[in-house]
Amino acid sequence: MFSDDLKKLRENSLLRQINDRNQLSLTPSQLKKGSQINIDGREYINFASNDYLGLAGNTSIADSVKKALDKYGFGSGASRLLSGGTEIHAELEHSIAEFKNTEAALIFNSGYTANISAIPSIAREGDVILSDEFNHASLVDGCRLSKAKKLIYRHRDAKHLSEMLENENGSRKIVITDSVFSMDGDIAPIPEIFDICMRHNALLYLDDAHGTGVLGDGKGALSHFGIKPEPWIIQMGTFSKAFGSYGAFIAADRDVIDWLINTARGFIYSTALPACIIAASLSALQLIQKETELIKRLWDNRERLFRGIHALGFDTLNSETPIIPLIPPCPPLEKGGEGGFGNVEASVKFSERLMNSGIYAPAIRPPTVGLPRIRFTVTAAHTEKDIDALLGALAEAHRIC
Ligand SMILES: *Cc1c(COP(=O)(O)O)cnc(C)c1O
Repeated sequence: MFSDDLKKLRENSLLRQINDRNQLSLTPSQLKKGSQINIDGREYINFASNDYLGLAGNTSIADSVKKALDKYGFGSGASRLLSGGTEIHAELEHSIAEFKNTEAALIFNSGYTANISAIPSIAREGDVILSDEFNHASLVDGCRLSKAKKLIYRHRDAKHLSEMLENENGSRKIVITDSVFSMDGDIAPIPEIFDICMRHNALLYLDDAHGTGVLGDGKGALSHFGIKPEPWIIQMGTFSKAFGSYGAFIAADRDVIDWLINTARGFIYSTALPACIIAASLSALQLIQKETELIKRLWDNRERLFRGIHALGFDTLNSETPIIPLIPPCPPLEKGGEGGFGNVEASVKFSERLMNSGIYAPAIRPPTVGLPRIRFTVTAAHTEKDIDALLGALAEAHRIC
């Protein structure tokens, strides 16, 4: 079964494989700062993690996980509407609402679940969804599950969005966008989109997976742009990226949250996250608010890497964040190179070359992106030495190209 399909993927350099991590040869206190990854017994500097603040191995967070494990046990046993939630689930929701300055918040089991559950609840038959063409797959799937009409506007093109809205008379209009686009690292024109939504009486659904803990002192993209939450703005964020934990939330007005509690299928029909995961997210939230130098270090590292990559003359598309795509500039096959601009093989080879230099940053290929690339994510856990090692490897890879 599927062997021909798999063969075709392999022939086109599109076969994906899982690269599971091994245990690191580090002590727990080193783990706390870890930017290393061990794959097949070899250690690399990891530039493929969304653990932006290096919190996934943080020992004080781990301590609160252990405490919650003792208090509440491991499994949650049921959905929130039955008996799966705990007092710290409620506390986390309360704290997130406060952090985001919204009336309420609701925890979902993952960012993927939040998007595929909330969008069909909010956008119903007779409604119109307007979605950025580069939106994350979970948003796309959420739209597919909704009975609303779907329209796709050009990437970050506020004018196109506005034109599309002019022609719509649906009972409710919902604009859906990533705040930070996960493969390009650029930011949606949120102030323009905000004005357009106001003008057209549209709802705004913002996926802040890569903005949470990264932009606006950690509060996310709205805060970054100095925009206050409104009853018509629904913000989704994750605990799985900068928070170094797992799960997601939606922060919005009380009525929106109550509606989701009553209709979002991935909330109603799925077992609640275990309390120890919730404890990790709570602890991370407190840490992010207290240790403000973490986010500063993230952005200092981002600037160092971004400037270095630019000095080497690589194309990084429109990256504005710690997500930095790099398009390998290898000469085309017919000229004896390894494939031209945007070529799949060139990206795979480039990534292999980086691995030989001790850098882990896999190639991102279709269908995840249209244009194949290497995608670096720089974090607060990287040292200057880590970043300079990557820049050295890039200079070398560039020369061979
Ligand atoms: C990672 C991501 C998600 C999914 O979040 P998970 O918690 O990993 O399921 C959703 N949207 C965007 C933009 C993401 O990058």
